[in-house]
Amino acid sequence: MQQLFQIIKTFKMAKGNITLTMIKPYAVQHGYVGPILARINEAGFRIAAMKYLQLSLRQAEAFYEVHRERPFFERLTRFMSNGPIVAAILEKENAVDDYRLLIGATDPTRAEEGTLRKLFGASIEQNAVHGSDSDDNAIREASFFFSELERF
Ligand code: GDP
Repeated sequence: MQQLFQIIKTFKMAKGNITLTMIKPYAVQHGYVGPILARINEAGFRIAAMKYLQLSLRQAEAFYEVHRERPFFERLTRFMSNGPIVAAILEKENAVDDYRLLIGATDPTRAEEGTLRKLFGASIEQNAVHGSDSDDNAIREASFFFSELERF
């Protein structure tokens, strides 16, 4: 029976069904966790895992490793480690693309009306939330924050 549950769990976490989000420090500090989670819920995502934590600078650098050569890397990793965040695995069919639509463009001034970044973002860096940009990254990022025992 235990094995059957494990197989169902693995199947539900399969590629295409999950994305990883972080509610970034600025949005947490401004009290936007509740409103953001409400919109995630209304958009039909199931929360498969969630935690409230503060990244160390080293952990933020590891998470954003692909951006190491970008000019904003140091600022971004300092910002992401300067206060608590909420990390969550969100589950839904077509999760990565649907969540990118819900959060909007990277720069809140360019994000579509009603998107999370338009509603709650302050700047291109402090843009309220992270969302995985591919299925492969969703799986990598989900494992960065959560063990199997922390996923439901
Ligand atoms: P995303 O996939 O839309 O989050 O965008 P990227 O993967 O390109 O960038 C990762 C994160 O780096 C963004 O969410 C921003 O917080 C930050 N970022 C991206 N571009 C810039 C920039 O030009 N300047 C600064 N300061 N931060 C940026």
